[in-house]
Amino acid sequence: MATSLTTFTDEARIAFDTLSGRAAGLFSPSLRLGVTGLSRAGKTVFISALVHNLIHGGRLPLFNAQKSGRIARAFLEHQPDDAVPRFQYEDHVEALVASRIWPDSTRAISELRLTIEYESASGWNRMFSSGKLSVDIVDYPGEWLLDLPLLGKDYAEFSADAFQLAALPVRDDLSADWRAAASTVDPLADADEMTARRLAESFAWYLKACKADSRALSTLPPGRFLMPGDLEGSPALTFAPLPDLGQGGARPGSLQAMMERRYEAYKTHVVKPFFREHVARLDRQIVLIDAMQALNAGPAAVADLERALTEILACFRPGRGNLLTDLFSRRIDRILIAATKADHLHHESHDRLQAIVRRLVDRAVKRADVSGAEVDVLAMAAIRATREGTVKQGRETLPVIIGTPLADETINGETFDGETETAIFPGDLPERPESVFEIAEEMERQGSPVRFVRFRPPKLERTAEGVTLSLPHIRLDRALQFLIGDRLA
Ligand code: GDP
Repeated sequence: MATSLTTFTDEARIAFDTLSGRAAGLFSPSLRLGVTGLSRAGKTVFISALVHNLIHGGRLPLFNAQKSGRIARAFLEHQPDDAVPRFQYEDHVEALVASRIWPDSTRAISELRLTIEYESASGWNRMFSSGKLSVDIVDYPGEWLLDLPLLGKDYAEFSADAFQLAALPVRDDLSADWRAAASTVDPLADADEMTARRLAESFAWYLKACKADSRALSTLPPGRFLMPGDLEGSPALTFAPLPDLGQGGARPGSLQAMMERRYEAYKTHVVKPFFREHVARLDRQIVLIDAMQALNAGPAAVADLERALTEILACFRPGRGNLLTDLFSRRIDRILIAATKADHLHHESHDRLQAIVRRLVDRAVKRADVSGAEVDVLAMAAIRATREGTVKQGRETLPVIIGTPLADETINGETFDGETETAIFPGDLPERPESVFEIAEEMERQGSPVRFVRFRPPKLERTAEGVTLSLPHIRLDRALQFLIGDRLA
């Protein structure tokens, strides 16, 4: 059942905003680039690395404008949206470069404006373009996108779906306490704040547990239960699904009526404004996924990642059939799905990782029907924390990756101190990915051949002149070329 997201006045206002945005864009062209992904996928690291490499003229051979020397300068400017927090670029780079620690991850929406002054490659473009592009980078939790399907569901449907997913074998043990608690309440009893809070907390605990490292499940809505942003502890988040809701409305004053009202308030005051004010205004989107973590965790986690990816992609489906109306004249025309942290693998496995992600995405794209947007797939590392080498073992020469494992990481019983560089044999991804599920099963059978330790950010090299080189990466330049390259042609 599709309900219309916006009221008529909302739509008129958005159309007006978009038109005036367009007009302003003629004078100073801008591009809104959304950066999303589930928590810990690598959004903060990606944005920091992207900006750092552009500002410091990093090595980006596959990014045409940079390679051909047409970028005069890239610099940060005041962002246009005063109500959105600024992405704390300087703090993040300080952590990465000076302290060699990973920066604080994304917890809510933030924004940064990067302006690039360039020279067009063609004389024709030089005549008509201003030679300046402002890229508004919008960082936001992927968990919030997973809320979109809620707009098409009433409270009873939301509840039924939540219980159905909670009973799946990969989730049933984690959800047991919450389901047990929910089964003891009578939805038609008088509303009671303590009961609502107890159920909401228990439900949120279950959602968080699914996300824990070993299980590596992608998340379920409501997104703010995992990433509350500024709503931490607010009554808008004090609701939970209730079991076995019959047809017919709830008795006024009952627990069900209270939960229903809060669920509707969450949709109206949290979900809709987020889509209207942020997602609907994006031009381009990158979705980061931690595919290796899912592969390591097994087939259920891979299936779950695919489900989340389908739902995320459906948010960008243009036009009819989308819960967002087709009134927006800004449309996302390019989407990049990037598997991050490829520096955990030897380069021979990078293409394999990319092939696996492509399979995952192909199915998701078909289901989500994102026709109209160009979708590409990439295996990359926004920051390369390792370098490659070989180790002789008897007669064999084995490829290894070399980096500084984080303190307290362990491999084969050895615990690292966070200071010592170590060579690690990362293992291979399967050569022929017949189906992602078979791969995950295969990896489960083999006891996960990819050894996964987390590394510290790299030590930046200096040139003979003492200039610090910019952050190393894998294929970050390809991502840039796809996301903004055409706008600098
Ligand atoms: P966010 O929640 O999406 O903002 O995730 P972050 O960008 O904070 O990344 C989460 C963690 O993943 C970081 O603390 C790093 O440990 C790791 N990570 C992210 N990107 C990379 C990468 O390119 N290479 C490596 N080696 N680790 C990464």
